[in-house]
Amino acid sequence: MGTQPPPNLASISDIFVCTRCGFCCQGQTTVSLNEADQERMVQHLNLPQEEVARRFWRITGSVVQMQVQDGHCIFYEAGHGCSVHAGRPWRCRQWPLHPSILSDENNFQSIAESCPGLKTSMGYAAFCRILRQLLEDSSSLAQEE
Ligand code: SF4
Ligand code: SF4
Repeated sequence: MGTQPPPNLASISDIFVCTRCGFCCQGQTTVSLNEADQERMVQHLNLPQEEVARRFWRITGSVVQMQVQDGHCIFYEAGHGCSVHAGRPWRCRQWPLHPSILSDENNFQSIAESCPGLKTSMGYAAFCRILRQLLEDSSSLAQEE
């Protein structure tokens, strides 16, 4: 008793299941890391910050990004995905369920073109209903790591 979720509680898997295609980890740049991201990554890797910076970060002035290797983020492993998953930056955590989807269907379409994991067949309105619910209850986004 008491452990069943309410029947209408949305789940991320209702609108997104990652296929591990790796597209979002490709390219010649990566997302930038804010201070909280840097701290989280250092803690997760359990290494001194100087070593994490030297081995994994590309620092340009005040901008900290992850290094790129062979055209993808240094933490991306083919066939496995993100090797720093629990310590990844918040922008990686947010992708592909970006709030801008709610304000413009073009954003939904363009993210869907980049991310095969989005469940688009339900249509924009139904997708937004679930995404809005998930974003309002951001704890449900955090739970499904
Ligand atoms: S683009 Fe989407 S489906 Fe592909 S790895 Fe990234 S989040 Fe997963
Ligand atoms: S930190 Fe992980 S999720 Fe983010 S770009 Fe690198 S490999 Fe991809």
